[in-house]
Amino acid sequence: MMNGRLRSFILLVLFAAFGLGLAQAQPAIQPTGDITKIPAAAQPSAHFDADAATEAYMAMIPPEATARSNAYFEGGYWLILWDFLYASAICLLLLNLRWSAKMRDLAERITRFRWLQDALYWGQYVVLSTVLSFPLDFYTGYVREHKYGLATQSFWPWMGDQGKGLLIGAIMGALAVMLLLAIVRKLPNTWWIWGTVAMTGMTMVLVAIAPVYLTPIFNKVTRLNDPKVTVPILRMTHANGIPANDVYQIDASKQTTRMSANVSGFASTTRITLNDNLLRRGSLEEIQAITGHEMGHYVLHHIPKSIFFDSVVNLLFFACLFWGLQWALKRWGDRWQIRGVGDVAVLPLVFLLAGIFFFVLTPVTNTETRMHEKEADMFGLSAARQPDGFAQAAIHLSEYRKMRPGKWEERIFFDHPSGYDRIHSAMVWKGGNLELFEKAPEPPAELLPAAH
Ligand SMILES: [Zn+2]
Repeated sequence: MMNGRLRSFILLVLFAAFGLGLAQAQPAIQPTGDITKIPAAAQPSAHFDADAATEAYMAMIPPEATARSNAYFEGGYWLILWDFLYASAICLLLLNLRWSAKMRDLAERITRFRWLQDALYWGQYVVLSTVLSFPLDFYTGYVREHKYGLATQSFWPWMGDQGKGLLIGAIMGALAVMLLLAIVRKLPNTWWIWGTVAMTGMTMVLVAIAPVYLTPIFNKVTRLNDPKVTVPILRMTHANGIPANDVYQIDASKQTTRMSANVSGFASTTRITLNDNLLRRGSLEEIQAITGHEMGHYVLHHIPKSIFFDSVVNLLFFACLFWGLQWALKRWGDRWQIRGVGDVAVLPLVFLLAGIFFFVLTPVTNTETRMHEKEADMFGLSAARQPDGFAQAAIHLSEYRKMRPGKWEERIFFDHPSGYDRIHSAMVWKGGNLELFEKAPEPPAELLPAAH
């Protein structure tokens, strides 16, 4: 399967990867001063002003830190484009050089069982496309992360994680490809509907098993056992009708310096997980604010809602695919040596069309996520009552997120509200609940017990 040119290409890629791996890492810039100290303009007072309080928090981030995280985040916009173009080029290469047809021919020579041919094709496809996309993946996932001080992994452990991901993709992808192609062959006119149903079913299974079976392949997940943290969190959990008695923690510091938390799972596997960077660097107020946000995702059923949204998008995609595959195969099918929609060699064309569809849809999918994040922010403020903790979290997240984007920039590229928006929401909430933060007046001196 591998000719001389391909072999030297792979060697060149690995060589370049090793050279880049020696690139110097820089430490992340930390916000100056103690971010748990509430700035004067954000203290409760008769003339509390949410805008001024927000600006006071924003001023705690040094300008060089802002410049750096803006550069990182804006680089991410371009990466969306480069990823799209690079992946498209790989698909076109596999089609036009007929590598896709050759992989199918090889699978057919090995076995006469069609479902096994599909799996064998997928195995080759995963390896070849991983090798071809390695330069960009390595730059995005390793070099760039180290350059901005966000990565903690050295080259070989990082490669180990990539290898695990490859293996999971090979196994799960093979199952998905076998199922979907069987549907396409059995139901040549309605596969786009049944394919969507199958995709949704597979997504539900994947989301449900991920926290229990997939996440532990990469990281250690344990029950959080620090009563200082868990007691107020579980009080908040029960007050909001969440039937959970555990909060989980994950050793994300193995890969990254980012602070984060998430809600994962589906039905009985749904859980809230805090990462160890947050537990180590965040104040108690901040941890509570973030947990309140994650509880919002849980209580507002954001995971099932997203699965539903995705299934509608997938239906639209499969409908476009139904039409697009026929159109493209009529024109170029002979040249690519693809026999029809039910031929496994059609996969690079499927991924090419998927790339175009989801690239165009980026602002829509970002906006769907961002709306959920905004809802979770508002829920979290009311549940945790820690607006200053929430502002601190936004400042910590500013290490890798742009704080103050333009209006359209936020709508197109942001899958979370901007840092400015988050601090502002917190300060507006605080302004409406100032009595919670005003200190109880000192008792008059004559009521104090006399000192002996
Ligand atoms: Zn969230």
